[in-house]
Amino acid sequence: MKICDNNQCTGCGLCSIICPLGAITMLNDKYDFLHPVIDDEKCIKCGLCVRKCPSINIIEGCENNVAYAAYSKDESIHETSQSGGLAFLLEKHVLNCNGVVYGQAFNNQLEVSWIRIDDAKDLYKLQMSKYVQGRIDGSFKEVLNDLKKGNLVLFTGTPCQIAAILSFVPEKLKEKLLTISFVCGGVASPKNLYDQIEKLQEKNLINKSLIDNITFRKKGGGYYFRFFSNGKIIYEQDDFYSDFLIAYGEHLNLRESCYNCKYARTDRIGDLTIGDYLALDRYTTSLPRNELKKGVSLAIPTSEKGSYILQTILKDMEYEKRTTKDAALNNRRLSSPSERSLFVDTYRRLYPIYGFNKSVHKIFWKRYYWVGYTKHRIGTFIRRAIGK
Ligand SMILES: Cc1cc2nc3c(=O)[nH]c(=O)nc-3n(C[C@H](O)[C@H](O)[C@H](O)COP(=O)(O)OP(=O)(O)OC[C@H]3O[C@@H](n4cnc5c(N)ncnc54)[C@H](O)[C@@H]3O)c2cc1C
Ligand code: SF4
Ligand code: SF4
Ligand code: SF4
Repeated sequence: MKICDNNQCTGCGLCSIICPLGAITMLNDKYDFLHPVIDDEKCIKCGLCVRKCPSINIIEGCENNVAYAAYSKDESIHETSQSGGLAFLLEKHVLNCNGVVYGQAFNNQLEVSWIRIDDAKDLYKLQMSKYVQGRIDGSFKEVLNDLKKGNLVLFTGTPCQIAAILSFVPEKLKEKLLTISFVCGGVASPKNLYDQIEKLQEKNLINKSLIDNITFRKKGGGYYFRFFSNGKIIYEQDDFYSDFLIAYGEHLNLRESCYNCKYARTDRIGDLTIGDYLALDRYTTSLPRNELKKGVSLAIPTSEKGSYILQTILKDMEYEKRTTKDAALNNRRLSSPSERSLFVDTYRRLYPIYGFNKSVHKIFWKRYYWVGYTKHRIGTFIRRAIGK
């Protein structure tokens, strides 16, 4: 039996949690993307997994043309968040109201997975976007326990993760559940991140046992790897030299469901959508231009709860009221999925033979490495010529 097509399954793991017979196991494919596997001997064909699957039964969203461009007034939050620090402020507010927060963080095996946070000192673990797929399957029951106890719960995640949570939680317990989904360009293969780490380790550029955090993007746009140990940067890598960032930027190694994303739509799922307010400097804006470079958050409230919490924290932000239509002009992921690279099939043929780094090199040799190599040679020549 099959629950949904492989190219639609987001790997949320909901089916494996709700199956009354425990007949579904989530297993990794060769890219470490999770897929449900059904034990036909245990399955009684009750159909619950199919009825609840959020890739088959699409959860309706809500359209709102009211949007905000905002960034935290607290410089340190703005600096350490991916865009304007909106997620951090929302999470902190919920903790101040004695609630709990669920989000995605690196664990000590450098896997991205859900964590439950009830103390603001741990919120830093959630900051910054991790562009690999994270697990949420273990979080469903904990979320339910919290809601049954009457706790206010904030769940942040990709729209497909929010769809899974909304499909799982019974209507009567949703009053105290607040869901925040991102504008989402897709999640890359977790295995490819390890491949990249292994490559850097082989070259003695990092010691992977010391790494406890990784960031993927420069503030305000563009990709850039930073590897951290105890809060200190131990290695940095520009996107031009990083096979992983090249592959992600080219949409080469996303989960297949991301190319067909059912939730990359103008009607947004959850109580609030947040993302990057891109290219704001091209518009008339009252926000100071020097702050735009550090990243500005986009917020689109899509329920009363979402509007209420957003209004509460806007006092801690510099902000401007704008429209979703205007935000979408430079942010295509508000209305459509990432385009599937023309090289995805070639890459998947090469990967088992050559591995990750060599396959990306073979595909993008001309576009990236040749140009990068030439730039490097010209730079060296100029530096030598001027004696530096
Ligand atoms: C995989 C991914 C793709 C994205 N693609 C786009 C895009 O195409 N366009 C756009 O405008 N914005 C995109 N975003 C959102 C954007 O990068 C920022 O995360 C968002 O603007 C919030 O920024 P912030 O400063 O408020 O908080 P941040 O510091 O970014 O807060 C981090 C929050 O992100 C969550 N998070 C981090 N990594 C993951 C993950 N792998 N899965 C689920 N949740 C995660 C954490 O739980 C935390 O709540 C994406 C985010 C992710 C995670
Ligand atoms: S999308 Fe989620 S619920 Fe549906 S088959 Fe995949 S893992 Fe199961
Ligand atoms: S049909 Fe029912 S028993 Fe079979 S895998 Fe799905 S939920 Fe489990
Ligand atoms: S692009 Fe769609 S399917 Fe992929 S992670 Fe984002 S929300 Fe999920």
